[in-house]
Amino acid sequence: MEFKGILSKMKTNLAETVSYSMVLNESIEVNSFLGKRISLTWTGIIQCAGCNKSIKKSFGDGFCYTCFSTGAESSPCIIRPELCRAHLGEGRDVAWELKHHNVEHIVYLASSDSVKVGVTRSTQIPTRWIDQGAAKAIVFARTPNRYEAGRLEVALKSIFTDKTNWQKMLKNEVDDTIDLIDEKWNLYESLPDDLLTHFSDEDDYTELKYPVVRYPLAVKSCSLDKSSQFEGELTGIKGQYLIFSDGSVFNVRKHTGYEVSLTVK
Ligand SMILES: [Zn+2]
Ligand SMILES: [Zn+2]
Repeated sequence: MEFKGILSKMKTNLAETVSYSMVLNESIEVNSFLGKRISLTWTGIIQCAGCNKSIKKSFGDGFCYTCFSTGAESSPCIIRPELCRAHLGEGRDVAWELKHHNVEHIVYLASSDSVKVGVTRSTQIPTRWIDQGAAKAIVFARTPNRYEAGRLEVALKSIFTDKTNWQKMLKNEVDDTIDLIDEKWNLYESLPDDLLTHFSDEDDYTELKYPVVRYPLAVKSCSLDKSSQFEGELTGIKGQYLIFSDGSVFNVRKHTGYEVSLTVK
C-alpha cells in the first residue's frame, strides 16, 4: 500500500484504545499498521499550514516564517495563555481570537510520570490530552476565556510542571500511584479564593490507553530533515508519535506540511 500527501497532526478518536488516523491524500487508519514495516519518504517539499506556500524550512507546527511571526495560530498566547488579549477584543487576528480564545477554556491536571497542568479550549478535550500522551486527566476549572485559564495556570505552575517529558512518555514511565481526584481536591484546599472562581467540581477523570504493542527502553527521535527516508516496524502510537521496534520515534505533528509518501509492507 502506498499513500502520498501533505502530513498533518494525526486525528484521534477516544475508544477503549485511542485510534489514530493520518491524513494524506486520504484518511488512513494507522492502528492497523502495528506490527508491519512502514517507510516514510519526504519529497523535499514543505507546504506552509497557514498560506500553503512551498517552503524549505518550517517554523512552529508547519508554518513559513511570515505566518509563524504574524499568524494567529502562532501568537505568543498559544504557548502562554496568560498573554491572551482576546477577551479585550485584541490580538494578531481579532476575528480568530474571538472565535478560538474568547470562548470557554479548561485548566486540567494530567498524569503520566508526574502531575502536569495545562490549558486548552474545552472543545479540544480529549484531543489535547491524547496529543500529549497523558495517562489520565481531569478538569480542574472552566473559565470564560483563555486569559483567565492562563492566569490560573501560572499560579499552578509553581506546584506542577507544564511540560511533558516526551522521552518518559514514550517509554511509558507512568506513576500509577497518582490519584488525580486527590490531587485536585488537595489543590482546591490550598488555593486562595480568588483563584477558585472558575473551579469545576467534576469528579470523573478520563483514562487514556494507547495502541502500543511494546514500549521502547530507550528512544531516539528521527527527523526527515536529517534523513529524508526511513523505514521500520511500527510497534506503537502515542501522543503524536509513531514508535518503531528499534526505539526510533517519529513526531508526526512536528512534520506538519511535509509532503511524504508512506509505504506499508
Ligand atoms: Zn505561510
Ligand atoms: Zn489568544
